[in-house]
Amino acid sequence: MTLRASVGTLYELGLRRGERLQLKTAYLMLDGRCQFNCLYCTHAFQSRTDQKFLSRVIWEKVQTEQITELIRTSNFKRVCIQAVSYKGYREDLRQLLKELQKTSKAISVSVRAQNMDEVAEYFELGADRVSIALDVVGEKLFSKIRGGSFHQTLKLLENSSVFFPNRISTHIIVGMGETDVEVVRLMKKMYSLGIRVALFAFMPMKGTVLHNAARPSVERYRKIQLSRYLIFTGREDLIVFNEDHTIGFKQIPDDASNALLTSGCPDCSRPYYNERPGEPLYNIHSQELLKEMELLREVKW
Ligand code: SF4
Repeated sequence: MTLRASVGTLYELGLRRGERLQLKTAYLMLDGRCQFNCLYCTHAFQSRTDQKFLSRVIWEKVQTEQITELIRTSNFKRVCIQAVSYKGYREDLRQLLKELQKTSKAISVSVRAQNMDEVAEYFELGADRVSIALDVVGEKLFSKIRGGSFHQTLKLLENSSVFFPNRISTHIIVGMGETDVEVVRLMKKMYSLGIRVALFAFMPMKGTVLHNAARPSVERYRKIQLSRYLIFTGREDLIVFNEDHTIGFKQIPDDASNALLTSGCPDCSRPYYNERPGEPLYNIHSQELLKEMELLREVKW
């Protein structure tokens, strides 16, 4: 088993020196060469990247027992296991879940699950939430960029949300060629199913097929973030669908800046996951940082 932890997690646990961001979730990755070939991913079987990257974050190898004990005595509230779909990942994930039960922390598993039996097994082994990433929105784009069937993945999410209500999450990456309206419709569907949505912005990574593709503008991403926030706070009627497949808003509510906070499972913040240092942040990882940005008038719609 190759287990890695994100650098932010290692800073928090004192295993590496660096700025501590008061993370509430520890991020672990079960690593190996993926059997799938998502064109944007550093772990795809055709990508030529250093395995210690996932998106632009560095993940260092760790020992399972050591990290379990450190997390158990830490202030983390949740552990997120990102499982790469390498041959044999399922057995490693079983073992890891059993081990991490010793931490008594809530556990999220982010995995490209194949069927309901697989999803059910992770819950039986102590997962608090399971995330099945869609990443790419739309049948055609999904099969071209991620491979496989968008509708089958959607069906699995739907069935999982029926058997495990309010315990399923998904990930959506903005900027893969989809329209605003497609993302908003999908988020509405997820909300109706009680599925949480973690939004990310596409980040072209060296060594991947899409290394030269453009990123979404921060302005466009803000609109999608606000749409998600309005949908998940029961105010989707404020979203206006325009004929050119973009979206607008009847009004920007006073609490709109909360939309910029990282979304997904409770306590998930994934700092600096989809931006380079010094650039505007797509997802804001803490309330404190958001307040600073508001004071500096950096939150614009
Ligand atoms: S939303 Fe966050 S905690 Fe949940 S699976 Fe995704 S990365 Fe992990």
